[in-house]
Amino acid sequence: MKHVIIGCGHAGVIAAETIRKHASLDDILMIGEDDGPPYSRMALPHFLSGAIREADTWLRKEEKHFSAQRIERRQGRVMRIDSEFRMLTLADGSTVGFDQLLIATGARPMLPVIPGIHSPGVHPCWTIEDARQIMQLARPGARAILIGAGFVGSILMESLVARGVALTVVEKKDRMLPGMMGKAAGKMVQQWCERKNIRVCTSATVSRIIPAAEQKGDAGQAPLLARLSNGIQLPADLIVVATGSRPHVRFLRESGIKCRYGVLVDASMQTNVPGIYAAGDCAEAYDVASGQHVISAVAPNAADQAYCAALNMIGKRAFQRSVRRIDVLDTLGLVSASFGQWRGVHGGQWVEVADERNFRYLRLEFSRDVLVGSSFIGLSEHAGILRELIRRHVGLGEWKDRLLANPALLREAYSACV
Ligand SMILES: Cc1cc2nc3c(=O)[nH]c(=O)nc-3n(C[C@H](O)[C@H](O)[C@H](O)COP(=O)(O)OP(=O)(O)OC[C@H]3O[C@@H](n4cnc5c(N)ncnc54)[C@H](O)[C@@H]3O)c2cc1C
Repeated sequence: MKHVIIGCGHAGVIAAETIRKHASLDDILMIGEDDGPPYSRMALPHFLSGAIREADTWLRKEEKHFSAQRIERRQGRVMRIDSEFRMLTLADGSTVGFDQLLIATGARPMLPVIPGIHSPGVHPCWTIEDARQIMQLARPGARAILIGAGFVGSILMESLVARGVALTVVEKKDRMLPGMMGKAAGKMVQQWCERKNIRVCTSATVSRIIPAAEQKGDAGQAPLLARLSNGIQLPADLIVVATGSRPHVRFLRESGIKCRYGVLVDASMQTNVPGIYAAGDCAEAYDVASGQHVISAVAPNAADQAYCAALNMIGKRAFQRSVRRIDVLDTLGLVSASFGQWRGVHGGQWVEVADERNFRYLRLEFSRDVLVGSSFIGLSEHAGILRELIRRHVGLGEWKDRLLANPALLREAYSACV
């Protein structure tokens, strides 16, 4: 049996190792576009901050790890999948046949359409090469702009601060972390960042980036000048773009594999084509808790899905009934998290408590007597309880009303109901 895996990120590596563990005689080929050792995107901010070396970003540290497990690796970009003839075509024109296939191509950063976005000194932080380039420019005292204050942007913010830059964050929405929490909580995170000397401009976009050579009158003042929608002009030495990502599925257009936003998969991680699976940031999987297909672009989800896909690829039966929908973030020492349907559900009830002075916040979202989502700031002691109540879909009965009256009773509710 020949298993081919497209992508050497978290999902690809875990799938390859899982197949090898359970099917010692099968052939495994991992194809990835990067030519160095497989690395973790999640580690890039720590490399950027200087906390770790480049080699520490590698997903497996032993040079011979993959060859020792008889996992063949090939560098190349897959351009086309012929599902009927079970054949891949790579960018160099070569072809590769497969019996079972895993698509683990992750996501690509989305760059906003802004004049000047491709100027030198403007970078996403998505690859190891991006991180190297940013490190050249993010020197102590350098003027840096970060566009986007979402999950990845906020992680990068911490790395940039650690490098000693003077940082301005520009966020289109009215608050920080708009994909993770509501207005009151997002504002609280903003206040925290401002206390740490980060300038935060919310409800603002960068409408133009002007490189030095095109700056009339101001020529030579700064390598870059960013014009904001609110009229502010910011000189900068570096602009980091963190405005979201999109599953990398364009190359599947004529493959017959069904995609919506990402590759649509069932609970076994199989696509509509038997024997072709998808996992990780590129996969859109069914989540029983919300009754929807969702993408959860975090590493633990990629690991869960890859493990499940790999077991099915070797003929075992495994299912992922829900998608891990948890985001946990440490923003310059302030821990925040969101779980499940933190935006709430139609006809549901919610409660919110905030202690602005001490940077503590909790919001609970209910559907009937079940907790379906939550977000918090500074209350990490509740993380396990919230995760379990939401994941297990626990009927809280009368405890729902008690929690609506006093959300601090979470521990008691958990003890009584679980
Ligand atoms: C800066 C940053 C910080 C992050 N921090 C966190 C964090 O703290 N916690 C967390 O849980 N998650 C974090 N994430 C998200 C996490 O990195 C992803 O969820 C995870 O990498 C997904 O794994 P994956 O295998 O699906 O995709 P990826 O890791 O993106 O791997 C996909 C691989 O496929 C290759 N590929 C793509 N297309 C092709 C093709 N056509 N042919 C061949 N190869 C191809 C790519 O080059 C890549 O190697 C962060 C992401 C970034 C960018």
